[in-house]
Amino acid sequence: MKLIKSLLLIFSCLLLPIVSYAWPTDTVRVQVLDDAATFGLKIDGRYEVRDAQDKKSLYRGRDLNSTVTAYAGGIIIAGNNFPANRIFININDPDVIEINTRPFRGDIQIIKSPSNRMSVINYIGLEDYVKGILYHEASHYWPMEALKAQAIVSRSYARYQMKENVSKDFDMTNDIYSQVYGGSISERQRTNKAVEDTQGAALFYKGELMPAFFHATCGGHTEDAARLWKINMPPLKGVPCKFCRESPHFNWHAVLFTGDIRQALVDSGKRTGVIKKIIIMARDDSSRITDLKIINTKADYVILAKDFRNIVGPNVIKSTNFNVSITGTDAVFEGVGWGHGVGLCQWGAYFMAKEGRTAEDILDYYYPGADVKTL
Ligand SMILES: [Zn+2]
Repeated sequence: MKLIKSLLLIFSCLLLPIVSYAWPTDTVRVQVLDDAATFGLKIDGRYEVRDAQDKKSLYRGRDLNSTVTAYAGGIIIAGNNFPANRIFININDPDVIEINTRPFRGDIQIIKSPSNRMSVINYIGLEDYVKGILYHEASHYWPMEALKAQAIVSRSYARYQMKENVSKDFDMTNDIYSQVYGGSISERQRTNKAVEDTQGAALFYKGELMPAFFHATCGGHTEDAARLWKINMPPLKGVPCKFCRESPHFNWHAVLFTGDIRQALVDSGKRTGVIKKIIIMARDDSSRITDLKIINTKADYVILAKDFRNIVGPNVIKSTNFNVSITGTDAVFEGVGWGHGVGLCQWGAYFMAKEGRTAEDILDYYYPGADVKTL
């Protein structure tokens, strides 16, 4: 009986997800490198290498400037073989470490795949993380109230991702699909002040932390989140916005070779012949397109406008609010807005702050019914 019990215990341990390190709840895990065969790592100061699974200390060192590589049995740093698929490096003294010459704050985890490729996850305090991204999301010369609104939004979004991804290896990636994280090089005095002045503040709806989406410019009306994702909540239903009219991203224009559009659609698995016409089938209440029909020399088909935008390129087709016509082999797009359009319109916030509105006014406007609370 005892044996069966202990076997059961071992078995249930094996079934548990691998918890590599107990991080404090205010630490964000950002994937800063993925699928790398090697990378550069520089640490000026004291550090400790641990096996991320059993947390055993493997090495203590000082000052490192090395290329990290992987082998079948583990990870090699500065000539030391660490026989583990996941190692955690605690950074003790220095404020900043460098990964491929880019500076970061906090600790890192290196995860090796069976094919000996590595990803690097940066473990960073939430407030430091928000400082790191704020400069990229809203330039430091912006009015302070707009920066504060963005700090609250970015913190809420990060907190929400931390909650959603707790069983995964990381909370966010370092790209436009989550938040652009520049590491410590991105910090500026004014953006840091906006983070410090709003320390811990986040957006809630009916007591629950909100996924505080945001985008560059809505182009006249923000979008209902339910149109894009399985998120149906009153503060994310969309509001009219007259504030972003002077945004540098209000209007966009793109001329694309129809052969390139066809290729992108084919690469995504859509059987597509020569494109003859792109027809707008329907628009939603925010005047964004919901469906497009692709008239082509094979079989015509209908595609969701949001999928079309992602397939052709979200930075070329900057929004799903456009008109399109085909002239010869060119598709000419004339559109408004930049981004998915859900939540805070960043350029709207900029102009609201210029008119003297506070961060709270801005958040009340773009997330009606939501509350700002300090975590
Ligand atoms: Zn707007």
